[in-house]
Amino acid sequence: MASLLVAHNLHAALDPRGAAERKPYPPMGPLVTVAELEREGHEVAFYDGTFGAVADFQAALDGHRPTRVAILADPHNVSQKMCLSVWRSAALEMVRMARAIGAEVLVAGPDVSDHPDVYAASGVTAVVGEHDDAVLRWASGGMVPPGRQSPRSNLEHVPVPAWDRVDMGRYAQVWRAAHGVWELNVSTARGCPFRCNWCAKPTWGRRYTVRPPEQVWAEITALRERYQPDRIWFTDDIFGIQKDWLARFAALAASNPIPFRCLSRADLLTDPAVVQNLARAGAVEVWLGAESGSDRVLTAMDKDGTVDEIRTAARLLHNYGIQTGFFLQLGYPGEGYAELMQTIRLVRELQPEQIGVSVSYPLPGTVFWERTLAGSADTADARWAGSMENRVMFASPFPQSFYDAAREVLRAEHAIARFARTPTLDGALRLPWHLGRWPVHRARIWSHRGADGERLDRGTH
Ligand code: SF4
Repeated sequence: MASLLVAHNLHAALDPRGAAERKPYPPMGPLVTVAELEREGHEVAFYDGTFGAVADFQAALDGHRPTRVAILADPHNVSQKMCLSVWRSAALEMVRMARAIGAEVLVAGPDVSDHPDVYAASGVTAVVGEHDDAVLRWASGGMVPPGRQSPRSNLEHVPVPAWDRVDMGRYAQVWRAAHGVWELNVSTARGCPFRCNWCAKPTWGRRYTVRPPEQVWAEITALRERYQPDRIWFTDDIFGIQKDWLARFAALAASNPIPFRCLSRADLLTDPAVVQNLARAGAVEVWLGAESGSDRVLTAMDKDGTVDEIRTAARLLHNYGIQTGFFLQLGYPGEGYAELMQTIRLVRELQPEQIGVSVSYPLPGTVFWERTLAGSADTADARWAGSMENRVMFASPFPQSFYDAAREVLRAEHAIARFARTPTLDGALRLPWHLGRWPVHRARIWSHRGADGERLDRGTH
């Protein structure tokens, strides 16, 4: 029994595509909140929804009979940052269940920050932005003013997540059964100072705050001793933004590095010394928001980076033995047939080990959303239900089928190139499928050549 229950609303099975990847991460953000509450002397129960169904939450409520329930999404989790409607439905259902036992309820997370009114209408305290301090005040019976909470300017005193509150063995088992390794999530920083105009940063905005590298390394050392993860996933929007921070972290890790994956930007990785430090620290895979092979589209996105920088970064990463992933977007306004072909050709040229392809997705609060959806009807609910949806949600020069075909072409070419580089049995079994589909989808794209009214001489093949 505990009068305060903290609950996480991500029930992985609600997003079938995400669940199929079998890469569950413990809910780090809510677990930091639990650790802070414990440090302040609160007795707190925790509900981890990851492997269960929303209905399971009832058992937690019945078991603890809490008088206060905090329902938190994880702002470090990519899927929750996408504000999928399945997470909102789960949170609102949990609110209903908690209120049914007479509990006072607080909700927080990226979607709450985007649409506090939707949650406030359910009779709860909706916290916008960074919520840790607000939850502490609320748990002590204090009032939490509506509106945005100030993000922390210093992360030194933020405790490590209360990892012991989740079934770590289960996370490890799912990962290792599916991938042969267990990857655990660690955060070194909050926020991102860049301004890509389609990127929603509802929790921390453009304010960037980083933990001391010594503290991060101490956390990783403790995690290795206690749980023996095989690999780390740094959840930061951009890992190692500051060169000197990265150099200090690499110096700490160099004698006993743990493999890690992270996100970065091409323009930060054009200096060989930086990439060398990534390698010394243990980087095995770096994902770049490449987005497009067209400088024109990158400029339209306010990406503040160039295609040549993508080339330089990809080659440097390759030289240091670090695998590369490219996030690619299709259909951003300004992308015509020629620009799309530039993206396809860039992937052919640089051959990243991984690609993640989606159509551009306008998130509330972004310049991109303002340009494409603001003013149209029913925008409050303009969102993908799950991460598999990949639906174009705004007026675009080509139909959805064009983008679906382009995605398939990229995936097929990538799979074929990967097999040519590293032949595997699995790759061999899939090869006929890709070889059969490629011409069909390529012809589908080709049939729309010129449909956007753009000049075709910017390089189309
Ligand atoms: S660099 Fe990444 S996190 Fe930062 S604004 Fe651009 S897309 Fe968003």
